[in-house]
Amino acid sequence: MSDCLFCKIVAKEIPAEIVYETGRTLAFQDINPQAPTHVLVIPKEHHANAAALAAADDGLADEVLKTAHEVAVLGGVSESGYRVVFNTGPGAGQTVFHVHAHVLGGRDLTWPPG
Ligand code: 5GP
Repeated sequence: MSDCLFCKIVAKEIPAEIVYETGRTLAFQDINPQAPTHVLVIPKEHHANAAALAAADDGLADEVLKTAHEVAVLGGVSESGYRVVFNTGPGAGQTVFHVHAHVLGGRDLTWPPG
């Protein structure tokens, strides 16, 4: 999508600090980190949110989750614990409508989230 921020990052039209990449996914540092590890994992293909990604039913959601785990391993937080969050819809705080998993770790994470 031409007006999508994360599609522009995939196309390298907007810079991002990429930490990991697979054929169909991309992981990059969040510009406004909320934890020592805060990486966004996206499918390169545009889907608006987690529901749309799941509906595609083509293995891409699995690949996003595998990339999220790889990011946690690379970030050294897979043993201590990390959180994978898909804000889905404006009411849940989604502001960029290209599905993305937040991978958060490196500090104590409280529950429930605000
Ligand atoms: P959401 O609120 O949609 O769940 O998360 C969007 C995330 O994208 C936020 O954590 C925000 O900091 C991040 N973000 C917004 N614009 C940019 C950008 O241009 N580059 C990067 N790397 N992250 C961004």
